[in-house]
Amino acid sequence: MKRDTIITTAGREPDKNHGFVNPPVYHASTILHETVADLEWSRGHRWEPGVYTYGRHGSPTHAALEEAMAALEGGWRGMCVGSGLGAIQAAILAFVAAGDHVLMVDSAYGPARRFCDAFLGRFGVETTYFDPRLGAGVADLMRETTKVVFVESPGSLTFEIMDIPAVAAVAHDAGAAVIMDNTWSGGYFFQPFAHGVDVSVQAATKYIVGHSDVMIGTITTTEEHWRRVRQSVADQAAPSGPDDVYLALRGLRTLAVRLGRHQETALTLAQWLRDRPEVRRIMHPGLPEDPGHEIWRRDFSGSSGLFGVVLQDYSKPAVAAMLDGMKLFSMGASWGGYESLILPTDPAPMRTAKAWNEAPTIRIHAGLEDPDDLLEDLERGLERLTAHG
Ligand SMILES: *Cc1c(COP(=O)(O)O)cnc(C)c1O
Repeated sequence: MKRDTIITTAGREPDKNHGFVNPPVYHASTILHETVADLEWSRGHRWEPGVYTYGRHGSPTHAALEEAMAALEGGWRGMCVGSGLGAIQAAILAFVAAGDHVLMVDSAYGPARRFCDAFLGRFGVETTYFDPRLGAGVADLMRETTKVVFVESPGSLTFEIMDIPAVAAVAHDAGAAVIMDNTWSGGYFFQPFAHGVDVSVQAATKYIVGHSDVMIGTITTTEEHWRRVRQSVADQAAPSGPDDVYLALRGLRTLAVRLGRHQETALTLAQWLRDRPEVRRIMHPGLPEDPGHEIWRRDFSGSSGLFGVVLQDYSKPAVAAMLDGMKLFSMGASWGGYESLILPTDPAPMRTAKAWNEAPTIRIHAGLEDPDDLLEDLERGLERLTAHG
């Protein structure tokens, strides 16, 4: 089945739900069993589909989303947790113990880096970082103790495309698992398991939910790694609530049409900005001049609504004058909703493998408004930027 069909059908069982199109929202802590034998059987089979033992471990509502996400990303099975960062943490913790090493891309989501350095570091797990454009060169950075190679493509804030198949081949040769943060593509424009990824995590908070009203993370794995990661999720005990799961499932059904529009509008804005004198360069792998464009064309089937802009040498107050006066683009953390966002960014303090020295930079999320209105808003913004000097 093609992806557009998968996202409209996977995880639905109207025949079991009295014909209702969508699954009901199961609210539960306790799940009852009629006999001791039944109770014991379900405990023994607790991670199998259709087996429910306790609210913390999920419900049929959770199972519907998990099944649909696994089908979309092309993995074995899925699970959901309370946030995207929670998904990253549970995935990494499934593989490491004191004395182990994590190799992480330098452009990874900032709080994921912080979790590795500040939190895992206290428990004797060391993390080092690699240049997102290194490809098979990561072989030189692998250690005997490397258990996880963590990738994100394109990178948070800076949008470098990685050669994931090349990195995955090196990781697998050394017996390490490849965990990918696949949030940017929504799991729709990039098929992680077809490119060597073992565990795919998403901040479903972003494009899967799509309406800026829910925090939720998803994890999908290969058959080989499923049990280990499922146990890690259970041990960390940060479940997603059934109402949030339901909203994520509802968002998923329209992912394809929303992403198509996000893609189109982002490319329109990026192409317009590229030709403006106030702009030094655009960080968007869908543009032919982008250094990651060739690999993006090889591995991805589209681009989403989030991209970066390097401005000419403007002062901080000038950038603030531009952003403060925007009418349609709002400022705030997160992205992936229907509304356009704009943020000043500062990648430099987070880079350790290779210094980042381009500034000022901003990040744009192209929402579902009319692109002409968005261009108008940006044009007025650039006027404020130059007027301030
Ligand atoms: C937002 C985000 C996360 C974290 O997800 P939350 O649901 O906010 O915890 C992880 N990775 C990327 C790339 C993100 O943009």
